Amino acid sequence: MKRRNLIKRLSALPLVGGMIGTEALAGNLTRESIPEARRDYYKELGLRTYINAAGTYTFLTGCLMREEAIDAYRYATNQYVALDEIQDKVGERLAQMIGCEAATVTAGAFSAITLGTAGVMSGLDQEKAARIPFDMSDMKNEVIMQKAHAVGYAHALQNAGAKVIYVETRKGMEKAINKKTGMLWFLNYHNPEGQIKYEEFLEIGKKYEIPTMNDCAADVPPVENLWKYTDMGFDLVCFSGGKGLRGPQSCGLLLGRKDLVAAARLSAPPRGDTVGRGMKVNKEEVLAMMIAVENYIGRDHKADWALWESQIKLIGDTAASVDGVTIEKHVPEIANHVPSLHISWDQNKIKITPPEVREALRSGHPSIEAMGGKETLDITTWMMNPGEERIVASRIKDILTS
Ligand SMILES: *Cc1c(COP(=O)(O)O)cnc(C)c1O
Repeated sequence: MKRRNLIKRLSALPLVGGMIGTEALAGNLTRESIPEARRDYYKELGLRTYINAAGTYTFLTGCLMREEAIDAYRYATNQYVALDEIQDKVGERLAQMIGCEAATVTAGAFSAITLGTAGVMSGLDQEKAARIPFDMSDMKNEVIMQKAHAVGYAHALQNAGAKVIYVETRKGMEKAINKKTGMLWFLNYHNPEGQIKYEEFLEIGKKYEIPTMNDCAADVPPVENLWKYTDMGFDLVCFSGGKGLRGPQSCGLLLGRKDLVAAARLSAPPRGDTVGRGMKVNKEEVLAMMIAVENYIGRDHKADWALWESQIKLIGDTAASVDGVTIEKHVPEIANHVPSLHISWDQNKIKITPPEVREALRSGHPSIEAMGGKETLDITTWMMNPGEERIVASRIKDILTS
């Protein structure tokens, strides 16, 4: 097809027509005049982009991948490798870097929980894996957790056919343990809430020889948490790849005992007759996840922290310069453990509510996403591109003063 005709046809497509511009539509497009710039796909789609002052939220698409992870992703797409072979090699490398027995890349922390649970139940028996979650009469399919650790993400256990038993005390847990108990589950950031803390929990697991799993999805930084909980004695530990680790949002890590990680993989792709077949991670993501972890472990964590502190200080100071505004800096103990800001104000003096401020931030240009409830505007900076804190600071001040 002649170039001119091709362009004519393309311009009939609504998206591309808008992109090529008037010159092309007039039929004057020459090779030289084809824009060199990368296509602005989000713009073509009419999608809103925003500064992320909120944090690693799934609905806000988590994080931006590190450059190094993007490079790995691009590299991986140039050639084929066998899925099991890249998972084997990357798993070994991850386990070395993190200092645990074994590791595998999953489709998010949620899938790490499902696959890990399936592995505990099937053991190294592929035929059993194929019967999860519908015919588990010969498997230990009960999982015990503390009521205080109940969270929506625990649905991932039930996806693997687990019957969840809720307890509150050590006594209750020991009483609930029976022949069908397959696993004890722990939600890391709710450690302060539950009556059974790490040590006692792991002691019970040991005593009854029941595998333990810890959901640490959002729990780096600090970097040490990557190895803290396997070192502590948890048999399986789950992380999100697309939160603090800044790998692909659809990835996660399952870390822990070699036999259990191997068993979990019996329910993972490419094996088709399994509960995990829909949790595919492609070679690009597997490699990008490994490089994201490598980058994360090797980072200057003090410098990262100092950057976040200075960004929070700038936004906090700018907001506090408005009469009637109060700021509170804080760092969550576990999960999203980064410098954070609660901004509140005397609503008799400043006649706008925090939800209205968030809406004004969202609908302005550039759009800004922040968090908080009815009383506060909540900000973190760790998922921003450096420099964006200045825009956030001045926009908050503008909104509060206008
Ligand atoms: C985010 C999160 C998950 C789910 O992680 P994905 O990587 O999005 O699958 C599970 N548990 C907790 C505690 C989380 O914060």
